[in-house]
Amino acid sequence: MRLPKFEHLQPTRLDEAFDLLERHKGEAKLLAGGTDIIVRMKHRMMTPKYLVSLSRIPDLDYIRSDDGALKIGAMARLNDIGDHPVVNKDWAILAQAARSIGSVQSRNRATMAGNICNASPSADSAPSLIALNSQVVLVSKGGERILPVEEFFKGPGETAIKAGEILKEIQVPKMNPKSGGYYLKYSMRGAMDLAIVGVACIVTPNGKAGYCEDVRIVLGAVCPTPLRIREAEEALKNKAVDEAVLEKAARIAMDESCPISDVRSSAEYRKKMVKVMTRRAFNKALSLAKAK
Ligand SMILES: Cc1cc2nc3c(=O)[nH]c(=O)nc-3n(C[C@H](O)[C@H](O)[C@H](O)COP(=O)(O)OP(=O)(O)OC[C@H]3O[C@@H](n4cnc5c(N)ncnc54)[C@H](O)[C@@H]3O)c2cc1C
Repeated sequence: MRLPKFEHLQPTRLDEAFDLLERHKGEAKLLAGGTDIIVRMKHRMMTPKYLVSLSRIPDLDYIRSDDGALKIGAMARLNDIGDHPVVNKDWAILAQAARSIGSVQSRNRATMAGNICNASPSADSAPSLIALNSQVVLVSKGGERILPVEEFFKGPGETAIKAGEILKEIQVPKMNPKSGGYYLKYSMRGAMDLAIVGVACIVTPNGKAGYCEDVRIVLGAVCPTPLRIREAEEALKNKAVDEAVLEKAARIAMDESCPISDVRSSAEYRKKMVKVMTRRAFNKALSLAKAK
């Protein structure tokens, strides 16, 4: 399958990239790793006249811990995030989510910024980023704004990014050292396939057996955007969590989900799996927290 004709623009500074986006407004798209946009172009789902590559702009591929927060640059590759020792130690759920995306070859090119800008309902990094209360830094000629990742998704393929803006950085606050987090992805072919259901869960036990001071549950692939299930979280907080309590919370998550039927699964099956996987993700996150 041949790519449609396009011009590849390679700015070496962010302000040059802003100029190109302005000059070719409506006809240009940003290019990060290209693992998604190039495939879409081949299938004629998108036919931009210009691709503005971020790859020659220096210092956009950093992964660093600043004042306890994790900062991920727009060009940081998924493999580098998934293998990073500090991310694995202090934000293990995010490293795990990064490793759950595609093949090693695609993760060597693909970025986490591209994963969320793509705004696929099944984007595997989104549930964990939301559960971690992460933010994105959006920059443009006019300046910079910071937005919670939870508010970034507007619908399938739609984000809060405005024309001329570039997602420059993902910021992830420090995880409570007592917390455990787990991203559970269910797909037919593991990381090589898109999620049928994804559940990110972060649990913070409060020391009293069976009690949690904080629980965060975010679903992927079962609504037009990733969905935090606050009612299910409340059902699990500050009480002894037994089978009945967990069953109730998992049912709330199932009822809140609004999946569609597609080539991967029926909506009905997805809903049932939300319940099963919410329980599993909670139990796994709790056992990781207890092991600390
Ligand atoms: C075979 C295959 C398997 C895959 N498996 C998975 C999977 O298991 N899970 C999953 O979640 N995804 C999967 N994907 C989708 C894709 O690989 C990921 O979403 C990847 O992280 C996209 O990153 P990228 O850097 O390649 O983005 P690109 O393709 O370069 O860009 C994606 C979109 O984001 C925009 N964009 C990129 N960077 C920025 C930025 N900094 N600011 C503003 N806009 C930006 C681009 O304009 C484009 O619209 C798969 C894709 C393929 C082809």
